[in-house]
Amino acid sequence: MYEGSVDQPPEGVPPQLWRSLVDKLDPEIAPFLPYLQKNLTLTYEDPGQGRLGLTKFEIDLNELERRRRFKMGPGKITILLHPDLNDDIALRNHTLAHELLHATGITSHNSTHSRIVDELAPAPRLKDSLVLQRMRQRVLESLPERTWICGNCGHAWERRRVTKPTRCPKCARPFQRDS
Ligand SMILES: [Zn+2]
Ligand SMILES: [Zn+2]
Repeated sequence: MYEGSVDQPPEGVPPQLWRSLVDKLDPEIAPFLPYLQKNLTLTYEDPGQGRLGLTKFEIDLNELERRRRFKMGPGKITILLHPDLNDDIALRNHTLAHELLHATGITSHNSTHSRIVDELAPAPRLKDSLVLQRMRQRVLESLPERTWICGNCGHAWERRRVTKPTRCPKCARPFQRDS
């Protein structure tokens, strides 16, 4: 449980997503959450490198780790969301939940991070997401033919082996060929 007021979401964060985040987290795993209302800026800008979202801290990782441990404020944080996400609310919420968890102090992609993202806002399937389909199309046009494509999240990667992969390296779900 957090002390003090965590009722108000940071600007741009949907209140429902924020409430679920507050319910699922606690100061031990996510000490920065109470600071986000004041310290977080959310903007719709292309984070580049084919990414949908990015969380930027102003302080470096060592200092961040120290402040995590002592539950001190994390300084200014910016979350960049790709402008295409305005066309796909499910994918927007999924990406935002992913980045918000980083901002609360879960800075690595560990199992806690992926479990809570899945509980808060699971990724839409490829067939339900125009934005994922568009991204996949762009990837397809730029890649050689020998490519695996995950039927779940649309991630594409080079075939280095003949055997079918068991899991997608991006979303970690059992591999199903895109149809
Ligand atoms: Zn991440
Ligand atoms: Zn996948």
